[in-house]
Amino acid sequence: MASIDLRSLSMDELTEQLVARGFPAFRAKQIRQWLDRGVTDFEQMTNIPKDLRAQLSEVYTVPTVRILRKLVSEIDGTVKYLFGLDDGETVESVLMQYKHGWSQCLSTQVGCRMGCTFCATGMGGLVRNLSAAEMMAQIEAAQQDTGVRVSSIVLMGMGEPLDNYEQVVRFLRMLGEEGGVHIGMRHISLSTCGLVPGIYRLMEEQIPLTLSISLHAPNDEIRSRSMPVNKRWPIEELLSACRDYIKATGRRISFEYAMIDGLNDSDACAEELASRLRGMLCHVNLIPVNAVEGKQQQRSSRERIRSFVAVLEKRGINVTVRRTLGADINASCGQLRRQKSK
Ligand code: SAH
Ligand code: SF4
Repeated sequence: MASIDLRSLSMDELTEQLVARGFPAFRAKQIRQWLDRGVTDFEQMTNIPKDLRAQLSEVYTVPTVRILRKLVSEIDGTVKYLFGLDDGETVESVLMQYKHGWSQCLSTQVGCRMGCTFCATGMGGLVRNLSAAEMMAQIEAAQQDTGVRVSSIVLMGMGEPLDNYEQVVRFLRMLGEEGGVHIGMRHISLSTCGLVPGIYRLMEEQIPLTLSISLHAPNDEIRSRSMPVNKRWPIEELLSACRDYIKATGRRISFEYAMIDGLNDSDACAEELASRLRGMLCHVNLIPVNAVEGKQQQRSSRERIRSFVAVLEKRGINVTVRRTLGADINASCGQLRRQKSK
């Protein structure tokens, strides 16, 4: 059975493996060019000799994703996909248009084991990690389907990227390679619920991406109630890692804060948050929480959000309220997949 995921190999690794099999190095480049053009069947790679094609099919596979469902927002053109993977699992991805181009929100895992109480993805636990190839394939499928070029990426779909560290970093490095989907690291954001060791590892990689932290609370008491990960790495430890990250990379961190009615949205919460973040090179992104079937949570009222913003601004914290895209297609992740599995 073919077993090595060829698409997740870097150019160097692929070249090395082919040379070890007695083939010239330029074959790696040819194969990559076919893959970049969307050809994943070795038999169709006509400039590759027959015996190499046969060997490739024996040893390698190329993971694919196919579109199982597609929803297009009538309000703003946001596209939401449910992708099917080769083993029958599914993940979601969202394509959004901004002034500067198209941005795609990618999944990094099937499910998630972090168990945040407000999140649809976490409800069924973790099924498996995605490979770098499966992350890449989400971009290729969306580009092929819509004809647009994706110019920025956010790792904010299903899954916790730092819980699938190896494949995520492998994917990021692939994006930096020439040919095919090429996206500069400055156009990439990675969002994490706060796996502190992962943040330090990422810092060492020196990848100039934008780090987003899902904070969602100003103190341990509230955060631990909705995010179990906080019991392992409490807020001060997390923020201390963030300060180190900013110091080492010189890059601003973005804090995500889902506004949940009655849980974390009081003016006192805003005051506490402002004190915690004082002096940090950061930005706070307020997100009215999305309703999730089977969960009680409700989003904070507009007035509450306005008041929260006012407190943060008065204390000198950089804050925006995230524009809701694809409101009519329920564009936040995790919900389509659950509908399907029911
Ligand atoms: N696991 C990573 C990235 C995927 S979740 C993380 O947690 O950061 C992407 C973002 O969506 C996170 O900020 C997450 O907290 C947020 N999110 C999850 N469920 C949500 C909901 N129901 N409404 C609004 N935001 C939600
Ligand atoms: Fe996982 Fe992120 Fe959802 Fe938490 S919010 S359960 S970390 S996907």
